[in-house]
Amino acid sequence: LVSRENHPARSTVRVGGVPIGPDSVTLIAGPCAVETPEQTLAAAQMAKAAGATLLRGGAYKPRTSPYAFQGLGEAGLRILADVRAETGLPIVTEVVDAHDVELVASYADMLQVGTRNMQNFALLQAVGAAGRPVMLKRGMTATIEEWLMAAEYVAQRGNLDIVLCERGIRTFEKATRNTLDVSAVPVAQRLSHLPVIIDPSHSGGRRDLVLPLTRAAIAVGADGVIIDVHPQPEKALCDGPQALVDGDLTELARVMRTFPEAMGRAL
Ligand code: PEP
Repeated sequence: LVSRENHPARSTVRVGGVPIGPDSVTLIAGPCAVETPEQTLAAAQMAKAAGATLLRGGAYKPRTSPYAFQGLGEAGLRILADVRAETGLPIVTEVVDAHDVELVASYADMLQVGTRNMQNFALLQAVGAAGRPVMLKRGMTATIEEWLMAAEYVAQRGNLDIVLCERGIRTFEKATRNTLDVSAVPVAQRLSHLPVIIDPSHSGGRRDLVLPLTRAAIAVGADGVIIDVHPQPEKALCDGPQALVDGDLTELARVMRTFPEAMGRAL
């Protein structure tokens, strides 16, 4: 279903009216985690001012340590809905448990399946039946074939509104959190008609790498990028070291607009 064999034209997925596909380079931005109404609104305003058209933000945070901030749950979803009402930005948010899909889908414009859940088949089937577009992050140890098969689980439930997100894979390298596999973009685009975006924030795990990795993403033809921003990264409850601050995001958006490969497509 997701293969290009039977579907040669590349697809565009619409999220609350915003296109993600071959005719655009979509900028999705927002906080890693929803922490407070004020922090989420400030991050969304930074995103909107820079030209982002979709708001990201996690209410359910699958953390490596069970002692780390796990997200606000439904209270976080309510904050996201309020911020959407205030800014007009459609919401992309993660769901980590098949039992929560209906609840998260009642607030979200797009359901995100994170790297740790890429092969959670019950979750994939549930999001496939939820009637919302899905962003499927690549498992950090998954091959491209496994990633596309995971997308097939979603598609099999009747939902072809799937965006693939390359977010770095685990390698021997320790200088970055994960190694961004830029080759995954053209490879996946050749095998599948689905749009492919890149997450330069979670792959590098470092603020200083977000702009260079965004340039790499655009150069290889990614259909968008998803970026962490925070009004006060030093106080962030989750992944502060990778969050961009105001000026950084404006600069990133400027680079996106002027990058030759993105001319006429970006923002
Ligand atoms: C996220 O985008 O909030 C996230 C946790 O990403 P990943 O699943 O890629 O680690």
